[in-house]
Amino acid sequence: MRVLVVEDEIKMAGLLRRGLMADGMAADVAIKGEDALWMAGSTAYDAVILDVMLPGIDGFETCRRLRADGVWIPILMLTARDAVEDRVAGLDGGADDYLNKPFSFAELGARLRALVRRGPVERPSVLTVGDLVLDPASRRVRRGARDISLSTKEFALLQTFMRRPGDVLDRLQLIEHAWDDDYENRSNVVDVYVRYLREKIDRPFAVDSLETVRGAGYRLRADGGRPVSGAGGTRPACACACACAC
Ligand code: CA
Repeated sequence: MRVLVVEDEIKMAGLLRRGLMADGMAADVAIKGEDALWMAGSTAYDAVILDVMLPGIDGFETCRRLRADGVWIPILMLTARDAVEDRVAGLDGGADDYLNKPFSFAELGARLRALVRRGPVERPSVLTVGDLVLDPASRRVRRGARDISLSTKEFALLQTFMRRPGDVLDRLQLIEHAWDDDYENRSNVVDVYVRYLREKIDRPFAVDSLETVRGAGYRLRADGGRPVSGAGGTRPACACACACAC
């Protein structure tokens, strides 16, 4: 097992390297994110340990660029602070796990082994279904070149659909993924929000992407949406929120 350690503090990098070697792993050290990018591109590592605070591009950006380059090996981020935002930014950027400094080597080793058992899994940090694009990190959604503004709930619901394109998701699955425990206790809350979503991601573009599967739930078409029949896809899109068929 060969691990790439990305850490600019020489003492910490040395400690990590020796700790990994004592655990029977091989370890290389990069002191900059930029170095990590080419090293990960030219050597088949089993995992990356990535510190957040780095000179030049930071750990978050390094992680995003690795994923953007199609490097899907497990990444464990080291966060100096016990800050929720750091963990969220790391995971949204494509990291698989995080560990707060200071940490124990026993825990680091155990987490690394768990990640390596999973192996490289392709999981783009930006979700794309047809011409629908959702970036969890920047919380932006667009269809084609047009940005779409969504509420927090609408965003969470669309993200749930976009992680499972083509699959039928029932109301309970959608609630579990997009609502927290104190979700509005209304039986039709999912139906209401699917309607809101359609008004924003479909109607203005004269496409139909969120399908109702009677008795089962909803499905996001894997192609991202087809032209609404009659619209032919050539009609100029109407941006109004009225209920007409324009
Ligand atoms: Ca550092």
